[in-house]
Amino acid sequence: MADVSNLEAAFERITVNDENEDQLAVTSTYHKQKGSVSTVSITALGTSTSAANRMKLPLQKLAAANSTKIVQANITKVPLASQSQAVQNRSSEDRQSHAHRRTLTEPAIYSQPTTPKQWHLGMFEIGKPLGKGKFGRVYLAKERSSGFVCALKVLHKSELQQGKVEKQVRREIEIQSHLAHPNILRLFGHFHDAKRIFLILEFAGKGELYKHLRREQRFPEWKAAQYIAQMAAALKYLHRKHVMHRDIKPENILVGIHGEIKISDFGWSVHAPNNRRNTMCGTLDYLPPEMLRGGGKDNFYTEKVDLWSLGVLTYEFLVGEAPFEDSQVMTQRKIVRGDYTVPSFVSSEAKDLIKKLLVLDPEKRISLEEVETHPWIIKHCKGSSRAYERTSGSKARSSSDKEN
Ligand code: ATP
Ligand code: MG
Repeated sequence: MADVSNLEAAFERITVNDENEDQLAVTSTYHKQKGSVSTVSITALGTSTSAANRMKLPLQKLAAANSTKIVQANITKVPLASQSQAVQNRSSEDRQSHAHRRTLTEPAIYSQPTTPKQWHLGMFEIGKPLGKGKFGRVYLAKERSSGFVCALKVLHKSELQQGKVEKQVRREIEIQSHLAHPNILRLFGHFHDAKRIFLILEFAGKGELYKHLRREQRFPEWKAAQYIAQMAAALKYLHRKHVMHRDIKPENILVGIHGEIKISDFGWSVHAPNNRRNTMCGTLDYLPPEMLRGGGKDNFYTEKVDLWSLGVLTYEFLVGEAPFEDSQVMTQRKIVRGDYTVPSFVSSEAKDLIKKLLVLDPEKRISLEEVETHPWIIKHCKGSSRAYERTSGSKARSSSDKEN
């Protein structure tokens, strides 16, 4: 491709805030032989620094008794999204945009993959570490033949097994590889070797939303509204595909090079409706009352869980902390009572939206369509983020909900 040298330069210039000091330095960006990855040896993983001040529940057993060989046996069955198509479709778009565009915010690869591409590590140049999570490290990477910049997430099979999260990872791959929306982090494909699983992810050039929020303390209303509108668009897309995310929170949202948000982390997402008992992990702050009540046979919940979390997110964007933040016991108690207060600096329109989302009865929460046409969103978005929508004219119902 003609542009490769430019791309190379652009790649070099990309700056990524790297706050994980204890990461391995990946000095060499070029590994000549297939699979020669000695400089990218992935060692023991700590906890995610970004989420360190969040209360975490221990990971619980997700995997069934027969799960020991799951990774090896099943991961390869997941159909691969063809990145080669991404690369082809990208080229015309590229010509009319500057270098950063090549980090590809929206490749049109969602159309039919032809032959699944067989990826291997040698096809990628590995760049700097972007961060690490509980089970993996993520590196900036570039596909050699096309110059396609992406993020490569490396997961160690042994660690996944130890953590009993193979099933979760499989689910993440299955679900995420079938999603294509500008506000959802793309998973272009995956491959594995004897020890590791590699996920080829869209590169989110501006990193974690969580860090932006901590840096700014809280977002101005216009920014919060635009983010929430993008979240609503993404959730609408997910729910239309009967996927509920179930783990919406700032730590799971990345920011693209144009400042657009990208929902990531589909490890807890699931096809709806879900009528099984569920184990949970992560912060309690975003859990809706119906997921907390637990036990019994009516532990049944729907996509409406994401609307509750959207309410918590709206609150946290505007206030700088989650509405039910407290000790674990108190948070739980406050959530099931819907007990929170909104500080007076928050506008009445924003308060109104929060109130309509943080409704104990899932059925009485406003719909995503109503979120998108809520006066607070309209006021700050003027249709811009709603342009992301690709809906088939499903018009918002006028709100007649009775709250609480
Ligand atoms: P957890 O293990 O709890 O899911 P996590 O989401 O932080 O934690 P990863 O998804 O492994 O873990 O990502 C680790 C970090 O790497 C992220 O927090 C983020 O800073 C960075 N990162 C991950 N994916 C990308 C990406 N596609 N683009 C840019 N940075 C990324
Ligand atoms: Mg994560």
